[in-house]
Amino acid sequence: MGTAQQIVCDDRDCPFHGSLRVRGRVLEGVVIKARANKMVVVEVEYLHYVPKYMRYERRRSRIHSHNPPCINAKVGDRVKIAECRPISKTVSFVVIEKKEEGSNV
Ligand SMILES: [Zn+2]
Repeated sequence: MGTAQQIVCDDRDCPFHGSLRVRGRVLEGVVIKARANKMVVVEVEYLHYVPKYMRYERRRSRIHSHNPPCINAKVGDRVKIAECRPISKTVSFVVIEKKEEGSNV
């Protein structure tokens, strides 16, 4: 019907073209799964302080994030995610920026 290759974002849960508003934490991580529709799993690494040893340890957590069509992050991409209202049971973050394309597929 429409022109091919035209990126139209009609996602109402898109922070740029829809009505979704972001607030709260902004994190950066790598997409490790992108199997569900408009949803990705982002692994975020952070440092946690251990007082007993006065050192930091690396910890990682996996955060389910909404992936709007205009960003369309793929597995391996480094992305920035922002906290928003809960979109579903497990999703309350949204991908707001693709920082680096992944090298694998
Ligand atoms: Zn959009």
